[in-house]
Amino acid sequence: MVRDHKRVPVVIVYSLSCNKGHEFEGWFRDSAAFDEQAQGGKLVCPSCGTRKVSKAMMAPAVSGTRKKSEPSANELRQMRQFMTGLRKHIEQNADYVGPEFPEEARKIHYGEVEQRQIYGEATLEEAKELIEEGVDVAPLPPDLSDAN
Ligand SMILES: [Zn+2]
Repeated sequence: MVRDHKRVPVVIVYSLSCNKGHEFEGWFRDSAAFDEQAQGGKLVCPSCGTRKVSKAMMAPAVSGTRKKSEPSANELRQMRQFMTGLRKHIEQNADYVGPEFPEEARKIHYGEVEQRQIYGEATLEEAKELIEEGVDVAPLPPDLSDAN
């Protein structure tokens, strides 16, 4: 089997869903940070705009596993704004750890270091291994601010 050594940008995520069942992903240090944002009404569903958002059952977040019906143009536009905002948020609030991502993500997951938001690069193989260990990672949203 050929191992894919190409590294892709990844972050730790929580899966979220709103009260209408739309699923999306949020980037938080930990549960407390989620609760704080949720209680402050800062979490908004990117599909319908409701603030009634809670943590969804965890699902593997590597792309390609969640084939859904085709989104409308409006949904695509909202998603693009959401992704761009998310990327900015990550770049401003998370520590860039580069190719050390898998190691750092494990240390955080197993409590060997203080909880913090990180982003960096990992191969698909490494991302899969992390997910199998219960570390939730996802591709960093692409920078779409120029695309329209
Ligand atoms: Zn929704």
